Amino acid sequence: MAQVQTPHIAIFPSPGMGHLIPLAELAKRLVHRHNFTVTFIVPCDGPPTTAQKSVLDGLPTAIDHVFLPPVNFDDLPPGSQIETLISLTVTRSLPSLRDAVGSLIERGGSGKKLVGLVVDLFGTDAFDVAKEFNLSPYIFFPSTAMALSLFLYLPKLDETVSCEYRELTEPVTIPGCIPIQGKELLDPVQNRKDEAYKWVLHHAKRYRLAEGIMVNSFMELEPGAIKALQEKEPGKPLVYPVGPLVKMDFKVVADDGSSNSKCLRWLDEQPRGSVLFVSFGSGGTLSYDQINELALGLEMSEQRFLWVVRSPSDKAANATYFSVHSQDDPLAFLPKGFLDRTRGRGFVVPNWAPQAQILGHESTGGFLTHCGWNSALESVVNGVPLVVWPLYAEQKMNAFMFTHDIKVALRPKAGENGMVEREEVALVVKGLMEGEEGKRLRNRMKDLKDAATKSLSDQGASTKALSDVVTKWKTLACNYN
Ligand code: UDP
Repeated sequence: MAQVQTPHIAIFPSPGMGHLIPLAELAKRLVHRHNFTVTFIVPCDGPPTTAQKSVLDGLPTAIDHVFLPPVNFDDLPPGSQIETLISLTVTRSLPSLRDAVGSLIERGGSGKKLVGLVVDLFGTDAFDVAKEFNLSPYIFFPSTAMALSLFLYLPKLDETVSCEYRELTEPVTIPGCIPIQGKELLDPVQNRKDEAYKWVLHHAKRYRLAEGIMVNSFMELEPGAIKALQEKEPGKPLVYPVGPLVKMDFKVVADDGSSNSKCLRWLDEQPRGSVLFVSFGSGGTLSYDQINELALGLEMSEQRFLWVVRSPSDKAANATYFSVHSQDDPLAFLPKGFLDRTRGRGFVVPNWAPQAQILGHESTGGFLTHCGWNSALESVVNGVPLVVWPLYAEQKMNAFMFTHDIKVALRPKAGENGMVEREEVALVVKGLMEGEEGKRLRNRMKDLKDAATKSLSDQGASTKALSDVVTKWKTLACNYN
């Protein structure tokens, strides 16, 4: 006779708030809708950050977490790319992951059975541990169906193209997607000699080891890519569009313990749909000169704005990816007199703000974003149109898709020196907040918001896709005797 136990899932998030946050949402759905138990096993390269802790501490009691001992990067050459660091955090944590999984199984608990291991886009090396313990290996892909389609296509592209992709004269046709110039593909594939490219290719090849891949997108947003991903092919894992899974109901607190709620109170006082929210995600930084141009452009646009500012970095656009917070007082880098001149019309928050609440606030009418996928989805579920300003990772692809395919965004043009000048900032911001085109984009975004709500409803396609995965895990939790 079959004895049903509660399925227990281990989630192994690779570093980055952009990976942890949607995985936390996935965990909540598994617990609330399907009565699962979930344990996050978190690798890191230093002490857990405040942002990480606040996400994990804020989860329901059926979701536990353990931080693995930090890995060491002292041996790495300077200038190692973020994808290399993330992948090495994962591989160097495998012995401690093995111990953690072993002790979860040992502790067991009556009526619970560890059945699956979920990793994200850079976590495929953990599948070795899944195999040892007979756990069902799944990927949660926290980005677009377009990027996932590229990952699955990359081994073939790698074989057939000999030059750098950015040197290709013809655009690249990723299955199911609009053709895109090689230079717009994700950062780590831009230099095929770099370790980061080797890592991405390594993971891309290992995607086929997954039993299934959940992708944080939905049919109405990316129909072409999703249909292509779902075409059956031998050895290709099943793909489940389970999105948009976005942070809706928990706060991420700043380092000083505040929730930056002052900015929410300020938003309460602004007219409906009048404020442009400006933020570059958890890791995005601009150069000193670019911060200056952005500030003066916002001022020139005469629009209301709420801006999350980090201190400048001339080194890398993702300088705070692992730490989230600037090393210096970011406000000290703003142009002289800027805060005084924009007082009342603009509100500036250092480092971190409660983005989900801001995007859900009725005063917010536009979002200038680095186009990280979580940020983009949070905008979609709230019907807020975009100004896209991609910085790193797959953000150029996302920006391209939103501007040319989905058509809910404007993209400012950079000059020959790579700088977006203040006049361009003002033009695009005004265009989004006041112009006719801005209205069209807003209406289209509202349609997507409705489609997202429907997809996540009880009978919706994304809910059904997750239920399909759940059914497989439930079968594994049946003990036959
Ligand atoms: N976020 C936030 N406050 C901030 C900056 C970021 O709450 O000041 C959250 C944001 O809502 C999103 C995530 O951090 O859920 C950032 O993920 P995304 O994929 O947009 O970008 P990444 O940080 O990975 O580049």
